[in-house]
Amino acid sequence: MAPGPERCSYLAENVGLLMDEVTTNIQGTARGRSEAPIRARILQAIFERRLPPGEKLTEDRLAELFGVSRTVVRQALSRLAQDGIVEHLPNRGAFVAAPSRADARHVLEARAVVEPEIAGAAACRCDAHALSRLRRHVETEDSARAGGDRGALVRLTGEFHVVLAESAGNPVFVRLLTELQALSSLSILLYARGEHSACPPDEHHRIVAAIERGDAEGAQQLMREHIAHVAAEMDLSEPVERPTGLAQALGIKPRAPRHR
Ligand SMILES: [Zn+2]
Repeated sequence: MAPGPERCSYLAENVGLLMDEVTTNIQGTARGRSEAPIRARILQAIFERRLPPGEKLTEDRLAELFGVSRTVVRQALSRLAQDGIVEHLPNRGAFVAAPSRADARHVLEARAVVEPEIAGAAACRCDAHALSRLRRHVETEDSARAGGDRGALVRLTGEFHVVLAESAGNPVFVRLLTELQALSSLSILLYARGEHSACPPDEHHRIVAAIERGDAEGAQQLMREHIAHVAAEMDLSEPVERPTGLAQALGIKPRAPRHR
């Protein structure tokens, strides 16, 4: 899909729905004809770990729960699939995406290239409105961290990087970051070493401060370090192959069974 206003408003639309509608009216808001509230509810459930990576998303059941047609559910799932949140498997249906460790490493490699550039561009181009949005966003992250709300924190710290891309004023950056961030957040849910978000506390504040000073080089460097810290917070080494049976686990070569 070509970058455009619809894609660029993705985050704002979801944040707005999550903050204003979904959280204030759990039972009622998702019932309706639009796919957007359904998509927002599914996103929230995923990042708050009520729908884990790999979980099946059954169209019929979702249509029944939300009181909408399967067509509307299909539209919601299809938008989530475009953003890398949902995977469609042939003859099996839709599932919450479950990035492998290799997927997560590839995403972090791409972020390490793109995001310092985004931070530098934001320091050059960010206007007062975008800056106050960034500041408000990091304050919301602080509240989630202080309240121990890990699901909200994973979602909000991920969204920070998309808000930053939006403040750089380049829709291609926004499109890239929307996809990279979705996969990153799912990877954090699967592979983070600690109990918190992979974005270390205070680093978003420091990046925003550099942008506020118009310090492009400083913002780039801070972002470079930040992505390295995010990677260090995740266990992305391939798991050691486990023994496939008792004999192998004990290091004993099995003998042919005796027959009496
Ligand atoms: Zn971060």
